[in-house]
Amino acid sequence: MGVLEPLHFYERYQNAPKSVYNDLQNLIQDKDYFVLTTNVDHCFQKAGFDKQRLFYTQGDYGLWQCSKPCHNKTYDNESMIKRMVAEQENMRIPSELVPHCPVCGAPMSMNLRADNTFVEDNDWHIAANRYQNFVRRYKDLNIVYLELGVGGNTPGIIKYPFWQMTYKNPNAVYICINLSEAYIPTEIKKQSIGIVDDIGEATSNF
Ligand SMILES: [Zn+2]
Repeated sequence: MGVLEPLHFYERYQNAPKSVYNDLQNLIQDKDYFVLTTNVDHCFQKAGFDKQRLFYTQGDYGLWQCSKPCHNKTYDNESMIKRMVAEQENMRIPSELVPHCPVCGAPMSMNLRADNTFVEDNDWHIAANRYQNFVRRYKDLNIVYLELGVGGNTPGIIKYPFWQMTYKNPNAVYICINLSEAYIPTEIKKQSIGIVDDIGEATSNF
């Protein structure tokens, strides 16, 4: 028997409890946009965001990879996770449902950037390239860098690059919405808006 963490099921395969993602989608659907996220919960896709305009930098609960990893590939786990949920008893699943790598037989793990075993597969690199191309295209044009709820854990992925791109482009506007703090560096103050509020509340007023 193996232990199943049902949290993954609810995070990945149930609908997001709030309508924030849908509201955001309505806000930007007729614009040229790109979503860069450190979330791993697939909410943007579930809300109908164009997959070609998403870059999940830190992985995805919806994917498995070899835990070693012996090869750079990820595997969609939706049907397996649903079987686990259906067949679990007291949060334990039959042994044959414990996933193993089809190449080396090691246990599979979630495709999450928790340590240096994280697999950046082909789709990850394609999304990374799309994001870079988008950024390049808009580097001198009118653009809003909208930062939503970025915490202090990984500022190097979204926050700091947004500050730098805003600083280099006088046509850019930086908007930071955060529940606890919305710090704006002095250098980009004239181009920026900081909002300390719930993301749902703040964006419903746009
Ligand atoms: Zn393997």
